[in-house]
Amino acid sequence: MAWRVADSLKILREQINQIAPNRSVSSDGTIGDAAHASRKSDHNPWIVENGIGVVTALDVTHDPMHGCDAQRLVDSLVSSKDSRVKYIIYNRKIISSTFKPWEWRPYEGVNPHIKHCHISVNGEKEKYDSALPWQINLT
Ligand SMILES: [Zn+2]
Repeated sequence: MAWRVADSLKILREQINQIAPNRSVSSDGTIGDAAHASRKSDHNPWIVENGIGVVTALDVTHDPMHGCDAQRLVDSLVSSKDSRVKYIIYNRKIISSTFKPWEWRPYEGVNPHIKHCHISVNGEKEKYDSALPWQINLT
């Protein structure tokens, strides 16, 4: 199936790339691999618009040496309480905008999310395709 990345996440990635143009993208990701496809994940294009799948999750590589500290990124997203965020996972912790809103909880998934942070956006089109800039800080 044809797929695309949600506009809000493309904008987030562009902003990050502008701030940290030399950052590593080794652990970046959008659409899921085979492992993701077998389980429920926002990396799977489960939202379908006019026959095109929309991926509503973005992984951003932790690369503080090149200006992209994933902890700083997620901290800035959490402090902005941006309503586009569905949940964020980083360094064995998860935070949701809906379940126990904006409160970090332990994350016990197989992947501890140390090399990258995971950002999922809300499944409503006006949220995931919002073109507003994000309030982010990477260092
Ligand atoms: Zn992810």
